[in-house]
Amino acid sequence: MPLLLIIALLLLAGCSNPDPLTRQTRYMMGTLVEFSIYGVDNTEAEQAIAAAAEAMRRTEAQFTTHRPSPVTRFNRGEGELPAEVGQLLQLSEQIRRHSHGAFHPGLGALNHAWGFSDDLPDDRPLPTPRQVAALLPPGRCVTQTDGKWRLTDPRCQLDFGGIAKGYAIDRGIAALKAHHIANAIIDAGGDMRILGRHGQRKWRIGIRHPRHADQVIATLALAGDISVVTSGDYERFIIRNGRRYHHILDPATGMPAMRAMSATVIAPSAALADGWSTALFVLGAAGLKPLQQAGLAGLVVDRYGTVHRSPAFQQWIVPPR
Ligand code: ADP
Ligand code: MG
Repeated sequence: MPLLLIIALLLLAGCSNPDPLTRQTRYMMGTLVEFSIYGVDNTEAEQAIAAAAEAMRRTEAQFTTHRPSPVTRFNRGEGELPAEVGQLLQLSEQIRRHSHGAFHPGLGALNHAWGFSDDLPDDRPLPTPRQVAALLPPGRCVTQTDGKWRLTDPRCQLDFGGIAKGYAIDRGIAALKAHHIANAIIDAGGDMRILGRHGQRKWRIGIRHPRHADQVIATLALAGDISVVTSGDYERFIIRNGRRYHHILDPATGMPAMRAMSATVIAPSAALADGWSTALFVLGAAGLKPLQQAGLAGLVVDRYGTVHRSPAFQQWIVPPR
């Protein structure tokens, strides 16, 4: 074939798909979720996004505590956990053990008392130390006998707020894969999983500074199938008497965790990255060791603003453009 003809054909192929990136944003799980798909035509991408969004909504309905769900029924002692919820509980329990209790899936009652997930006014009374102590659950809140989960203590209430968003992202990615999508990002307010590449280059992800929304503390270049999740104290918080109260609780004290401003984890699945980012936030820089022992990489901005990274994290960092 003459070279000019080949070039013409290539140009034509390019013209039928002038913008290889399809982007859509939907509101779910209390946040804006952005879907980006590269390299297929818009119609195909939009069908895949619709399927992913549907899978994520279904997942949210299984795990939510904001409206009646299998989890709220289980917490009231009614009904058993569906298999899917049991599986995420199993993973949550594994992260709890490996993080020395920093991730704890049984903090529901305490979390409700603090009110960060419930859209309450900022001037509400905060729980007193006595109330916190009364609601603080034991280290282990669930047991399984004959395949059935059971709460071990009246202070225990399941709350998947620290891991369900990541899991929903995983379900969304599975739906994209089922639609033969090879290059994509699902980004749920900074919690994301990526697939493939952005054409010739890798996907670029900025990790924001926990105190300056417009500043980036690290830029990552990622390709393949990998997740990045950040937990921070800057999205849901109130300042009272000069102290910042926010939604990630230290299961050792029942108080908002004090050792970090943000924690980022890179992991093969978004559920793992989400659960561990919450754990790493609670543990602060000391959490990088158990994180590494679990085979994952992370970055912590400690309470003084100093950045700590596990050695493996470095491989994804690129200079900002
Ligand atoms: P975000 O919801 O901002 O993405 P996280 O993933 O860190 O942040 O999850 C915080 C949520 O997890 C809280 O709103 C609460 O529902 C729950 N939670 C709080 N502290 C813990 C903890 N130590 N372990 C597990 N879940 C927690
Ligand atoms: Mg989390």
